[in-house]
Amino acid sequence: MQVLSVASEVYPLVKTGGLADVAGALPLALGKQGVAVKTLMPGYPAVMRIAGNAILRRTFPDLLGTEARILEIEYQGLDLLILDCPELFDREGGPYLDVTGKDYPDNWKRFAALSKVGAIIAQQGLTGDPGGWKPDLVHVHDWQAAMVPAFMRYANEPEVPSLLTIHNIAFQGIFGADIFPGLELPPHAFSIDGVEYFGNVGFLKAGLQASWAISTVSPSYAEEILTPEYGMGLEGLLQYRASDLAGIVNGIDTDVWDPQTDRMLAAPYSAAALNTRETNKRLVSDRFALEPGDGPLFCVVSRLTEQKGMDLLAASIDDLVIQGARLAVLGSGDKLLEDTFHAAATRHPGKVGVIAAYDEPLSHMMQAGCDAIVIPSRFEPCGLTQLYGLRYGCVPIVSRVGGLNDTVIDASHAGLASGAATGISFGPVTAENLSRALRRAIRLYKDQNVWTGMQKQGMKSDVSWSSSAALYADLFSEILVRKGL
Ligand code: ADP
Repeated sequence: MQVLSVASEVYPLVKTGGLADVAGALPLALGKQGVAVKTLMPGYPAVMRIAGNAILRRTFPDLLGTEARILEIEYQGLDLLILDCPELFDREGGPYLDVTGKDYPDNWKRFAALSKVGAIIAQQGLTGDPGGWKPDLVHVHDWQAAMVPAFMRYANEPEVPSLLTIHNIAFQGIFGADIFPGLELPPHAFSIDGVEYFGNVGFLKAGLQASWAISTVSPSYAEEILTPEYGMGLEGLLQYRASDLAGIVNGIDTDVWDPQTDRMLAAPYSAAALNTRETNKRLVSDRFALEPGDGPLFCVVSRLTEQKGMDLLAASIDDLVIQGARLAVLGSGDKLLEDTFHAAATRHPGKVGVIAAYDEPLSHMMQAGCDAIVIPSRFEPCGLTQLYGLRYGCVPIVSRVGGLNDTVIDASHAGLASGAATGISFGPVTAENLSRALRRAIRLYKDQNVWTGMQKQGMKSDVSWSSSAALYADLFSEILVRKGL
């Protein structure tokens, strides 16, 4: 099977979140399932820097009023199709925000162009010549690529089957109606079953309407987004498409995240020698200026936002310190939350430490040295840090939402008795319930047999991409079969 994947960020070239990890890792895992993937992404400066030997596949003299070309190159096992369009993508800031942190005003055009090229390649083939490469299916990610199925629908050519994956429904790509003429779609596309969304243009909405099938990054999130609480206004349309909606959890790169070989650790270790983690723990404690203690060392590696429930954790800090635990927080984001955590560190010197930064090596050390990672998200489409935690024996303490619910088995009586427990989960998501979960963790930690049992069980969990890639491959086949192809 030949698949065209379209994404606005791809690890290791450009990453702002979990989407990049999926777009970078899934093609490699699908390759092992007999699915060949070409990945179309924008030619940001970081991407153009590796495009020196790329092959020119096609030129577009007038792509929504600008010039562009498609270059193809093999990069770290990925077959990349780069949309080289300097006017739209040769910019100093990030993929979506300028250097001052504001959305680029022409983001609609940048990602409409990406989607339009995705649709053209799918329907006409990579080079436009008969006999050139053509996908059996197009897999598009999030609002930035969601217009691919919509552009296909309004083109005068047969549609290619499509799957739209939602990584976070909070980001929908909504723009004023005044951009509609710039999309160069027929006038009837501005309608309730087209791109129109409450008088505006909605990219994700248009994709949900036009794509052949829809998926999201965990089975629980697939159910949650059908409700007003999590659907962010799109629940009605998703209910209408519910029979075409699936949930598949993300995997992680188990070569990069391997406690036995991870070079970012002071002391690599395996499940058979968990006491080696002590060396990493001492180093983490030093970095965060924490005193030694008998209670557990909790950590946070996260964007500091309300989505991640960081305000709830801030409200639980005094209690967790009284109960004898310590806390190391690595994160950045909301300025007020950063200040709140800094204030907690000042209140509890030696017990609470905060580093407000993005630090990849330190995040590895924390998973390898801390006893538990706290993830009290209000919503979590999939979540990656609990998967790293499982693999590293850093017991996840999570809210029972989305992918957290699907990947962590609670240390309930039954969970502990059967030996299946891999973490601690709580719900509904409130500060009181989080505090109760943290107290439960502190109690369980006192019995080192129980605690190491949980760590080892977590380390046995399959968090690799292979089973998820097999599910994607099955879903692709099912889409083709269901539609009689
Ligand atoms: P989201 O994409 O919603 O932020 P995920 O859990 O899916 O949440 O992915 C977050 C990724 O970013 C993980 O790989 C996590 O380790 C990493 N990360 C988040 N904050 C930091 C930080 N301050 N330093 C290092 N890595 C971080």
